Parts: sequence; structure tokens; C-alpha cells
Amino acid sequence: MALLVGLGVTIGGFPVTLGVLDLLRQAGALRPGHTALQGGAHTDGWIDKGAVMRDPGTLDEVALLQAGQLRRAWPDATLLVGLPACGAVLASFVGRHLRWPVAYLLDDEEVTWHRMHVPAAPQQVVIVDDVISTGRGVRRAAAFLRTQGHVVLGASAWVCRAELAELDVVAMTPPPYRTVGAPECPDCAQGQAVVHVGVRE
Ligand SMILES: [Zn+2]
Repeated sequence: MALLVGLGVTIGGFPVTLGVLDLLRQAGALRPGHTALQGGAHTDGWIDKGAVMRDPGTLDEVALLQAGQLRRAWPDATLLVGLPACGAVLASFVGRHLRWPVAYLLDDEEVTWHRMHVPAAPQQVVIVDDVISTGRGVRRAAAFLRTQGHVVLGASAWVCRAELAELDVVAMTPPPYRTVGAPECPDCAQGQAVVHVGVRE
């Protein structure tokens, strides 16, 4: 289930008027054009999250919005979990605003905790992510956390392209670009060349 949560955040008493899409656009993270994603799907644009991650000021503005949304969605969470590697940075930026503890996952051949924090079970966990594209990473994370005896309340993300039946995802905005299988791609049907090849969001 995907939920969209409205703004209502203030900084120094002033309402924040920019939404996450505005912040992504300002950072140059929105990359329109016929795109073949690494997972095989085609889209009419992709999100270069690196444009935000490289700029801690913008990242923190996004993290503040995400923290407000996350607190409203899951007020009883006890732990934020970040995926490698940008997800860990983001989880800490979000956790800074919430004053909630964070832990990081590693995902090489199998998912494990980063030794910085191996939390005692059971925690009420929210996975913090930026762009959920195929959903593979959050699926693997949620499965690992459940085997570790934790309750996975859901995942918070800027944007989610994936259908995740087993996980409650709260996204900050609907995807700005459509996602289709290559055989159904309208740009391909019109003979449009792929502009961005093999993109990993
Ligand atoms: Zn196409």
C-alpha cells in the first residue's frame, strides 16, 4: 500500500513550501528522456539521487520532509534502518531530525548488520530509502529484519516505482515517470532511441 502524506513541516516557525519533487528538480536530479533501467523496465525519465546525495544541504531539506512524514506514519517506531550505502547516510540525516536510533545493513552475498549497531530484538523498524526502483533491496532488507526477530512497520521513500505487496511503503510523491516493460514501451513503439541506457536508480 502506498500512501501520500501532505506537508505540514515548519523550519523556524515558517512553513516549508517546497515538496520533494521541487527539491529534486532544483538539485538537477530529475532526468527526463527515454530510459532503459538496469532491471529491464523502460521509463520516460529517471531520478539521479546522487545529485541530492552530493549536496548535504539539499539532502537535509529532503530528510526533514521525510522525517515529518515518517513520524506521522509510524509514531511508534523504535529504529530506523538504512540500506547501503546512500541509504545509511539518508537514515542518519532523517534520524537526526527524529532523534531516533539508526542501524545500517550491508548487502553483499547476504544481508547482515553493519557492526556499528546490532540492535536487540524486537524493534519496531522502519526502512529508510531514497528511490525504490525494482524493490529488490528493500525486499531483501525486510526479509532479513524479520528473520532477526524485528517487526518491520514499513519503508519510507522519496519515490517508489515497485509494487511491494509484503511491505507498507509510504512515498513522498507519486513517481514522476511511468514504468513499463520494454515490450509495452510507447517510446520504443514510436521508434524513439533510448537516451539513457542501463540506468541504476
Ligand atoms: Zn522504450
